[in-house]
Amino acid sequence: MSERVIPIITQPLGNLAIPQSGPNTAWQNGLTLKDALSRPLHDLRISVTDRCNFRCSYCMPKEVFDNNYQYLPQSSLLSFEEITQTAKSFITLGVEKIRLTGGEPLLRKNLEILISQLAELQTLNGKPLDLTLTTNGSLLARKAETLKAAGLKRVTVSLDGLDDEVFKRMNDVDFPVSDVLEGIEAARKAGLGPIKVNMVVKRGTNEQEILPMARYFKGTGIALRFIEYMDVGATNGWRMNEVLPSAEVLQILQTELSLTPLSASQQGETAERWGYLNEQGVHDTSLGEIGFISSVTKAFCSDCNRARLTTEGQLYLCLFASQGYDLKPLIRSGQEPEALTQAIAAIWSQRTDRYSELRQQEPDVSTNDEGAANKRRKVEMSYIGG
Ligand code: SAM
Ligand code: SF4
Ligand code: SF4
Repeated sequence: MSERVIPIITQPLGNLAIPQSGPNTAWQNGLTLKDALSRPLHDLRISVTDRCNFRCSYCMPKEVFDNNYQYLPQSSLLSFEEITQTAKSFITLGVEKIRLTGGEPLLRKNLEILISQLAELQTLNGKPLDLTLTTNGSLLARKAETLKAAGLKRVTVSLDGLDDEVFKRMNDVDFPVSDVLEGIEAARKAGLGPIKVNMVVKRGTNEQEILPMARYFKGTGIALRFIEYMDVGATNGWRMNEVLPSAEVLQILQTELSLTPLSASQQGETAERWGYLNEQGVHDTSLGEIGFISSVTKAFCSDCNRARLTTEGQLYLCLFASQGYDLKPLIRSGQEPEALTQAIAAIWSQRTDRYSELRQQEPDVSTNDEGAANKRRKVEMSYIGG
């Protein structure tokens, strides 16, 4: 068997030139900005740090993200004011939901200051933003109340199993399950709900945790979502045979639980939602719900309305992109805010990204091969934000 080589990657991978104008100026006339495939701009994910205190093998494997790894220097990070200014431009173009992510977002010092700035912003319709954050939960017990007081609405917590040995192997820093569960409980008490829990499922690693996780969260009001192991980045050594398709996860769940499919609660929703049936076979909302994020086996690009802003101000249009648009010079140029808004509109209106759909069309995706699309260099998830 040949040894797997994990390439060392340096960031960023490259910049794309910012288009000076786009075909779509509808937003200036009060109409919805759409990309080249007619998708609106609704969600913005903002990465606030490229650092993390976990070394999940599927995201920041220890062999690559070691003591010699060069993280972004402090000087290249966008300041909170710069992030807020950029968020305002996105909101002008239709964004209604902002998710803070990373790396581990709770490692960013004084994050509550950024949250309080973002919490003051309103959508185009004058509504409060849907302001949320994805975290590994390690610092949540300590920070939940401060985050809530600053204006954060809700959190999504990542947890890949309830068995300590399995979880520690996956986070690779010996972090115990109990501390994450404490964090989830603190978030619940602080009112940071509805809470979602994300579980990445890797065949051969944590599929035995599927049923215990479902049992644990059933009826708690916390939605558990199973995420297919994705071929993001270039360092996790992704192989198709380690993906456990959502259909198989569902089969495992149905050996014990009675489930019923639910309709999507909003357009562009990444998760397919399922509810629980009670003993009479009737959908019982009090038992909560579970979700499947199947970006490998069931691409949802046709609805993808998400943009991603990296810690240093690069705009990425797809989780699997090789290059981003460097907005930082424009953000720091001292020009009127409209210049930034126009640049983002021009970029969005030319967007054609649909990586997962294309990957699905590859003949080799159903095999154990890593797939042709995956051989292309892609940005790391810890850099772009999940
Ligand atoms: N550190 C935070 C956390 O883990 O929640 C936020 C950033 S993390 C990159 C965001 C989400 O991406 C997490 O739910 C994580 O499980 C997921 N993720 C990372 N690498 C993944 C992969 N290769 N496949 C599927 N999901 C992945
Ligand atoms: Fe860190 Fe989140 Fe990536 Fe795990 S998934 S290494 S917690 S950024
Ligand atoms: Fe969106 Fe890219 Fe994922 Fe498709 S592959 S859903 S375009 S982020």
